[in-house]
Amino acid sequence: DAKANGRNCHRFFSEGMNQIAQANAALENELRDAISQKQFALEYQPIVDAKSLEYVGLEALIRWDHPKKGRLLPQQFIQVADDTGLMDILGKWVIGEVCRQIRVSEEDGIILPRVAINVSPRQFQNQNVCEEILRNIEENGIEPSKIVVEITEELLLDNNERVSNTLNKLRNAGVGISIDDFGTGYSSLQYLRDLPANCLKIDRTFISRIEHSPADRAIIGTIAHLAHALDMRVIAEGVENDAQLELLKVSGCDEIQGFKIARPQKADDLPRLFENAGFGTARSAGGS
Ligand code: C2E
Ligand code: MG
Ligand code: MG
Ligand code: MG
Repeated sequence: DAKANGRNCHRFFSEGMNQIAQANAALENELRDAISQKQFALEYQPIVDAKSLEYVGLEALIRWDHPKKGRLLPQQFIQVADDTGLMDILGKWVIGEVCRQIRVSEEDGIILPRVAINVSPRQFQNQNVCEEILRNIEENGIEPSKIVVEITEELLLDNNERVSNTLNKLRNAGVGISIDDFGTGYSSLQYLRDLPANCLKIDRTFISRIEHSPADRAIIGTIAHLAHALDMRVIAEGVENDAQLELLKVSGCDEIQGFKIARPQKADDLPRLFENAGFGTARSAGGS
């Protein structure tokens, strides 16, 4: 009967939740070990100019080289890292590693384009991201404009003064600010006016529908117009085929990132991409 079903249902849910909590606790422990054993790596995904297809940037993406499960993607651990505050430690490592790899490349005579670093809202609240970034830039002797911080709309929800001060400080130092996954959050457009962001990344969900949805084409074109009017560059994320690429050029997107151009690359493969002719082009480097 209904009552028994209700009880079963309740038991089912609480057992399910218990299992999730246990899995997360196990993952947290594994993450702590992984941090002390330095099991993390960065991959870098190229960003190209929409018209010339020349490399203009890279996005650093964290990976976990799990001893048993192999190379894990952020979706398998980043939420737990963020919830437990472990992302603060990982985030510091990411900032240091990106700056170090830019310096080491330059020492080898290979000039990388700007590199974007993802910073979660939690990291922004918990740690002094700004000082951390500026200190690493200085210690490695790199141009501040080589670094871009990617934030999400979620960070801007509560219109926090500390956040806007931090972003202004970074921007004034010459660091780029990108708004990531644009169009998927719930924040008002006011922040576009008030924040010092100089780049906007249109979320992949819009790009994936561009060929078949006039509505998505209209949204993308309008976002590009708005961004340009506010003096921001526009990057389309998750571009997977030629048809999307052509439509995005027509829509006014400045830069392209996606499997169509290149998948995230191992750090060791960067010299091969960048050793010839300045930043080179994705085509001559054999991007898929
Ligand atoms: P994101 O910042 O939006 O990064 C773009 C994601 O889209 C990456 O996934 C990238 O591999 C994927 N991608 C790029 N082009 C395509 C495409 O054409 N098709 C499809 N289907 N996917 C594409 P990834 O590396 O799994 O990262 C997922 C998310 O994890 C990132 O989304 C970012 O929010 C977060 N993340 C990654 N690295 C870091 C980090 O160092 N710190 C923080 N806080 N978050 C990170
Ligand atoms: Mg990003
Ligand atoms: Mg994104
Ligand atoms: Mg995303």
